[in-house]
Amino acid sequence: MGTSSDHRELTPVSTDPEWENWKWQIQNRIRDEEGLSRHLELTSDERESLKKCEELFSFSVTPYYLGLADPKNDDCPIRLQVVPRKEEWIPRIWDRPDPLAEESYMPVKGVTHRYPDRALWYLSHVCAVYCRFCTRKRKVSQSSQTPDGEDWKQALEYFKSRPEIREVILSGGDPLNLSDSKLDFLLSELKRIPHINQVRIHTRYPVTLPMRITPEFCAVLRRHFPVFIVTHFNHPKELTDFSREKIRMLVQDGSATVLNQSVLLKGINDSVETLVELFYGLTSAGIKPYYLHHCDEVYGSAHFRVPISKGVELMKSIRGRISGLCVPLYVVDLTGGGGKVPLPAEYLEEEKSSSYVFRNYRGDLYEIGY
Ligand code: SF4
Repeated sequence: MGTSSDHRELTPVSTDPEWENWKWQIQNRIRDEEGLSRHLELTSDERESLKKCEELFSFSVTPYYLGLADPKNDDCPIRLQVVPRKEEWIPRIWDRPDPLAEESYMPVKGVTHRYPDRALWYLSHVCAVYCRFCTRKRKVSQSSQTPDGEDWKQALEYFKSRPEIREVILSGGDPLNLSDSKLDFLLSELKRIPHINQVRIHTRYPVTLPMRITPEFCAVLRRHFPVFIVTHFNHPKELTDFSREKIRMLVQDGSATVLNQSVLLKGINDSVETLVELFYGLTSAGIKPYYLHHCDEVYGSAHFRVPISKGVELMKSIRGRISGLCVPLYVVDLTGGGGKVPLPAEYLEEEKSSSYVFRNYRGDLYEIGY
C-alpha cells in the first residue's frame, strides 16, 4: 500500500438522487486528479501518472465504479484497473498500439472481419470507465474513430454481401452507450439479414455502469431474441448486489444469454482463491464464465501480464476442484491477428502402445486403455 500525499477529508462518491440514472453517471464521471483526490488518498505515483496519462490514454471513472474502490489502499483491485501507474510509461519491445491487428482486417470503417464467420463492429468510442489494460486504447475515447450513419450503411451493406458472416459482435468502446432506439434499429437491421445466425453484444456496462440495464433496454433485447451479451467482470468485488440485480433483469426481462470474459491481471485476479470466487460468483449471478484472456500486448499493459505458465498452473489447480460449468477457457489472442489459441493444461503424461497415462488435477496418475 502506498503512502498518502493528501490528508484532506475524503468525501463519499455520491448521495445524489440521480445516482441510479445511467446518463447522470456518464455526465458525472470523475476525469481528473482533482476529482479523484476528493475520494481517494492518491499516492505520488498515481498523481504523477494521472497528469501524464492524457498523452497516452484518457482517464475516466463513474461514481458507481469508483465507489467500489478502497480510498486508502492503492493495491485495491478496482483502483489498479482504472487509476494509471508509472509502469504505463515504460515502453516494452513487444507492446503495440493495435496488438490484434484489427485495423488491418477492416474492409469498412468500424468493421473488423478476421475470422471467416464473424465480424466485429466498433460502434462507440465512449466507455463509462477507461480500463488501463484496454486493447483498443489507440482509438477508445477518440470521437474521430467512431463510425457515423454513412459508415453504418456501408457496414450493413458489407454484412449483406458476405454470406459467410454468421455472427456480428457489437463492440466499442461500449455499444451500450448508444440509445435504446439506435440499438433497436441496428439489431433489427442485422436480424433482417438471412445468413446472420446470431448477434452478440460486448459490454462492460454491467460492471462499470449497471444502471444502463433498464426495463426499456430489456424490452429491446426481448424483441430481437436471441441476443448474447458478453460482459467483462475481472474481480469478485465487481459483483455487487446492484449489478447482480441488473444481470437478473437481463436474463429474465431481456431473455438474454449472459457470458463473461475476464482478463488475467497481475495483482488483481492472479490467484486460485480470487478466480474461484469470481467464477462461482458469476455462475450464481446467472453468467456463464466464457473466456479467461491472457492480457494482450497493448502498450502500457506489461505490468498487468501474468506469465502464461502461471496462468496454465492456475487453471490446472481450478479445473477439477470446481464444476466445469464455472470454468472458462483460458486463451491467448495472438499478437499480429493470429486469432485466439486455447491454453490447455497438459494432462496426458504418456502414450503407450496400448494405453494412455494421465495425471489428474490432484496429481495422481491413471492409466486407461486405447
Ligand atoms: S470497457 Fe472495454 S473498450 Fe472500454 S476501456 Fe474498458 S476494456 Fe477498453
